[in-house]
Amino acid sequence: MKFSELNLIEPLMRALDHAGYEQPTPIQQKAIPPILEGKDVFGCAQTGTGKTAAFTLPMLQLLGNGSAKKRHIRGLVLAPTRELAMQISANMKTYGHHLPLRHTVVFGGVSQNPQVQQLRKGVDVLIATPGRLLDLMQQGFIRLDRIEFLVLDEADRMLDMGFIHDIKRILAKLPAERQNLLFSATASPEIMKLVKSMMKQIVRVSATPKVQTAELVDQSVYFVAKDKKRSLLKHVLRQKEVSHALVFTRTKRGADRVAKDLVRAGINAEAIHGNKSQGARERALKGFKNRSIQVLIATDIASRGIDVDKLSHVINFEIPEVAETYVHRIGRTGRAGSPGKAFSFCTPDEMPYWKDIHKLVRKDIPEVRKHPFALS
Ligand code: AMP
Repeated sequence: MKFSELNLIEPLMRALDHAGYEQPTPIQQKAIPPILEGKDVFGCAQTGTGKTAAFTLPMLQLLGNGSAKKRHIRGLVLAPTRELAMQISANMKTYGHHLPLRHTVVFGGVSQNPQVQQLRKGVDVLIATPGRLLDLMQQGFIRLDRIEFLVLDEADRMLDMGFIHDIKRILAKLPAERQNLLFSATASPEIMKLVKSMMKQIVRVSATPKVQTAELVDQSVYFVAKDKKRSLLKHVLRQKEVSHALVFTRTKRGADRVAKDLVRAGINAEAIHGNKSQGARERALKGFKNRSIQVLIATDIASRGIDVDKLSHVINFEIPEVAETYVHRIGRTGRAGSPGKAFSFCTPDEMPYWKDIHKLVRKDIPEVRKHPFALS
């Protein structure tokens, strides 16, 4: 597909041409048409898929068509971190270069004065982290009563960082009549609850990770009772070939419990997740990279920053509820032509999720029958 098939206006096409993009990414192909039609869209996609352009391009097009005499904030983009907010702002600058729209970005951790100055000049689009936005709203510098377009980017990370109450307070100040977009790498029950609370008719689009990533990985499954999973993990890790493994758990507490259990058994393990300090996370990652730590236990969200070459094993201690997550997880091994292995521990309760995964990867995943904790 070509960008010209997406009905984007000429100023955006020129900016895309200048950026050197040849064709829209899958998430852009799927999300741009319904957004341009004015629909509410839930996009399941992570960084690297081109999701920022997927919401920025149609938003600029829709806002760029109306002409306001006096500028007021009509588009609001919420992001969990300052880095992401700045990245979105940079994207907006690139794509909106030939449009008469003005945008600015506000985030915490820095003086608010320059931000207030920018706001005073009048902006059409505001990119913000939730805390600073609320601060500035309370001081009367920002009014959101004429928002036409709302985007929540990396919504799962916002929830993980404890922003749900801030988000609800912000949503309460917005006009009911508006277009909503929400992007998230996962579609957890919490995310779906938020999506449903914001949107009536939802168009759901997702960028399924390339199935080829999974093809390089040697996958197998162990069927096991829930209370035997930790024993099975120790058994698997003790097999000589498992030198460097990333273990996924569904919850932060689960990650801590598994790490503790492994350490007690004399296995060099460490957990990383959002509740740990930045310093602790960096130490764990460094240790894992230089191989002084053999096993890293992570939740899906915490695992995103992990970029380790030639990871030999990925172990799904729990089966993810969303099949795409499985592909993301196992895609972390077997990179750049080096084959990796992925083991999944599945209880009878988790069978429905396992079946969904099967459907997605379209491949027979062999079962390891011979192990000391096999279901009888
Ligand atoms: P994102 O997932 O939004 O963080 O985008 C990942 C990267 O892909 C960014 O550096 C974008 O500039 C780039 N990008 C976005 N859309 C396209 C496209 N259609 N073709 C090439 N690169 C793109």
